[in-house]
Amino acid sequence: MMEKNTMLFSLKDVGKEYQGPAEKIIIFSGLNLDIAEGDSVAVVGASGSGKSTLLHLLGTLDNPSRGTVLFRGRDITAMTAEQKAAMRSRDVGFVFQFHHLLPEFNTQENVAMQAVIAGMPRREAMKKAAHALELVGMSGRAGHRVGTLSGGERQRAAIARAILMHPAVLLADEPTGNLDERTGDSVGQLLMDLNRELGMTLVVVTHNNSLASLMNRRLELRAGELYDQNC
Ligand code: ADP
Ligand code: MG
Repeated sequence: MMEKNTMLFSLKDVGKEYQGPAEKIIIFSGLNLDIAEGDSVAVVGASGSGKSTLLHLLGTLDNPSRGTVLFRGRDITAMTAEQKAAMRSRDVGFVFQFHHLLPEFNTQENVAMQAVIAGMPRREAMKKAAHALELVGMSGRAGHRVGTLSGGERQRAAIARAILMHPAVLLADEPTGNLDERTGDSVGQLLMDLNRELGMTLVVVTHNNSLASLMNRRLELRAGELYDQNC
């Protein structure tokens, strides 16, 4: 029988632990979570509560110790390394606290670079980059070296890079953590615009309450458990 699955992600009894030098470190003992297509979700929690680990599991950068992570009904824990890499480049955009852009290249080149490395013809990648920069309000900075951009502009460029391939989901790890309040608010607003206008699902780890309050749903990680703050 066909199972209808409208969820973008479904985590079922996901455990994550590390073997420390002396004892096991248990990060998650059994997470269950559904994230609907098009939703916007804030993940909050103390430092060390496993927020980044959760994003890495969603983005196939890490594997759970047990349980399954379904992406559109497909078990990503069963994928080969190649399938995971393909999923990351096609379906997932990452935004981090630090932008990891190369200061000596211009903004458009930075946005295009991953796609060129992955084999896309340079012309096509640069065209997509120009469009992505337009979507984040950065067309006027396309030819500027990243080293000359402000913090907020760099984060916009990092978001443009993340949305280059029109991914299904943007996974953002403290995207405003390095920005002043006003700049952080405008980056938060941009993420919400991408969610509403392009239908990109958002999962945003943040300590920033005003950013978290923009999201449709708030999850808190505490002692290895997830609490849905809307319930
Ligand atoms: P957060 O993003 O909420 O601050 P993390 O997901 O980065 O938390 O980390 C959760 C916990 O897992 C932390 O206690 C961290 O020390 C531990 N941890 C993360 N990666 C490893 C690793 N490779 N080996 C051992 N412990 C790890
Ligand atoms: Mg973290």
